[in-house]
Amino acid sequence: MPDLKIARIDVFKVDLPYTGGVYLLSGDREYTTFDATMVRITTQTGLEGWGESTPFGANYVASHALGVRSGIAEIAPSLIGLDPRRVDRVNDAMDAALLGHEHAKTAIDVACWDVFGKSVGLPVCELLGGRTNLKMPLISSIRMDEPENMRRNVAEHRARGYRGHSVKIGGDPVEDAARIAASLADKRAGEYFIVDANGGMTVETALRTLRLLPHGLDFVLEAPCATWRECLSLRRRSNIPMIFDELAMSDSSIVQLVADDAAEAFGLKISKNGGLTRGRRHRDIAIAAGYTMSVQDTIGSAIAFAAIVQMGQTIPEKYLRCVVDLRAMVAQTTADGDFDIIDGRVTAPDTPGLGITPRLEVLGEPVASYS
Ligand SMILES: [Mg+2]
Repeated sequence: MPDLKIARIDVFKVDLPYTGGVYLLSGDREYTTFDATMVRITTQTGLEGWGESTPFGANYVASHALGVRSGIAEIAPSLIGLDPRRVDRVNDAMDAALLGHEHAKTAIDVACWDVFGKSVGLPVCELLGGRTNLKMPLISSIRMDEPENMRRNVAEHRARGYRGHSVKIGGDPVEDAARIAASLADKRAGEYFIVDANGGMTVETALRTLRLLPHGLDFVLEAPCATWRECLSLRRRSNIPMIFDELAMSDSSIVQLVADDAAEAFGLKISKNGGLTRGRRHRDIAIAAGYTMSVQDTIGSAIAFAAIVQMGQTIPEKYLRCVVDLRAMVAQTTADGDFDIIDGRVTAPDTPGLGITPRLEVLGEPVASYS
């Protein structure tokens, strides 16, 4: 195959304000803006690939924006001269340079896939296994609020074509039961609800919350508790279907999920799970285990969304619960591409690579460069 080498790696920093003002998570966590890192890989032939890694603050999972850029500084020098199409070999080199810190490797990994796609004239989804015909359903993110406000927020998303809703709760049984009941009050046939505690409940408060709910509410519980032990304990003592998210981040945790029969599904977040190369492996383990996946990211902009869409487009309908449109959550447009939302659904474009054109005027000058 013709020579293709990574000649240069540029790093960009962009602030992404949250569109809704203040985003609340369990444990009194608040977020108003997100610090995004973009990577541009340039080959010796002039091909460019782009990737993004944007942690959800510094206390959602063990990742943070300064760590992304510090990690890239550790990794980038050892990647110069490698073939970006050999994505597993690039990941081997990243692992050799820096153990763990997958969120720092994500933007580089995704940029390699973008280069790979452009080098052969194919969208990334074709290289990840091939496109399904599915118009992928989007899921809303219903932030924690007063119950009636959450009910209204669900209704607004329903009116825009959303059939899946991710409802955030906070850890107080009485308040959470009211939030869940209100959010599901107008549930229509064919709608799907996740209730996401982001690890904010103990086993005790989770069991109390479930007992306080009206009978027959149809939802799946995501990330009820912060630790593996608590989630397993809750699972043994309730019959609620469960999704892992923050606890399913690595090869070993995905394998353990299956071994422990700990859930029915997990959230495949591109930066949390370490990029498209690792995400591809997690996808395949999940399909083999009969799990569904929500393909998402911790947060991010149009570049991260393109990676979500490319991965989601390879997952058969039976196993793909939803994808998340990050662009709706941040008030900054970092790239353009053919990712229109039609009736609450999206498909990957036919454009080679990720299918995006970054807005260089938004990204500004690189904050670091390696060559
Ligand atoms: Mg979640």
